[in-house]
Amino acid sequence: MSPDAIRLQTVSEPHNNRYSRQTRFSPLGPEGQERLGRATAVVVGCGALGTVQAGLLARAGVGTLRLVDRDYVEVSNLQRQVLYTEADAEVALPKAEAARRHLLAANSNIAIEAHISDLDAGNVEELLGGADVILDGTDNFETRLLINDFAVRDGVPWIYGAAVSAYGIAMPVLPGDSACFRCVYPEPPAGAQPTCETAGVLGPVTSVIGSVQAMEAIKILAGRTGSVRRKIFTADLWAGPVREVSMPSRNIDCPTCGRREFVCLTSTNRAPVSLCGRNAVQIHERRRPVDLVALAGSLAGLGTVRANEFALRFQDLQYELTVFPDGRAIIKGTTDPGIARSVYSRYLGN
Ligand SMILES: [Zn+2]
Repeated sequence: MSPDAIRLQTVSEPHNNRYSRQTRFSPLGPEGQERLGRATAVVVGCGALGTVQAGLLARAGVGTLRLVDRDYVEVSNLQRQVLYTEADAEVALPKAEAARRHLLAANSNIAIEAHISDLDAGNVEELLGGADVILDGTDNFETRLLINDFAVRDGVPWIYGAAVSAYGIAMPVLPGDSACFRCVYPEPPAGAQPTCETAGVLGPVTSVIGSVQAMEAIKILAGRTGSVRRKIFTADLWAGPVREVSMPSRNIDCPTCGRREFVCLTSTNRAPVSLCGRNAVQIHERRRPVDLVALAGSLAGLGTVRANEFALRFQDLQYELTVFPDGRAIIKGTTDPGIARSVYSRYLGN
């Protein structure tokens, strides 16, 4: 190498490190970047929104990224869940683990935890504890209320987001400052709601909403909470419009941020739940660790069994059963919790 080449490299090096384009943005700067590196973000749900959020935060250099997801990769995810590949779907890799592997390939300088779990009252302290911000990548109201209870109780900011068809919405919740999720949505939406299965969902809208959520998270983690847009962002990317509307003010009678009653954090076992748009039911009534190797042995001959360290998949004539090591299962081929429960009992006992 010539002396000139060495000099050129030395001079250009500080301008060309991993985060240089980010630290050059003066509202963030090196100091904001340094804060990002010390921060912990939790992404709950690694589907379309969660993969966008996690991808952006990992590349931005958030020091610890905790990924929580209960599901596994399927080929119908690939159209919008930007981290996954055909190979992940082929082996039905749990999304949290698949995401962890792909994100480490993009940034090996950060810590990434994969939790193959369904967030509920029993594990919420473990999974959300220590978070500096929580990002909503879930698909259901119940889990959002649980996140909201935890976040308001502990004063942790979180970013709500949702998308279906070509429409999406994002909103920050800053406990003690802005309205909370329950102030804005006191009751679950009434009646049948459009789902990603019934109404479809387009990748560009989930990418936009996930990106808006990631941007607000970056502001918070970089210590720039004053710059968070205290607005509800909505976008219809097919027919328009894209807009911001004012957040309602805090409801002083809100059970969560007004009266500080955190009912979701103390609710007991969960009933089986029909999964959004999946023709599938999740069974998660009791925590009972399952030895997947032993189970694979006992199911051999009754149908097709495939197992790895993360999950076991069993197919009989009618249903497909995916069992996780904590005893949780997803039964595909029905939306009826009663049928799902009997399929579970048939193969795993009561
Ligand atoms: Zn509230």
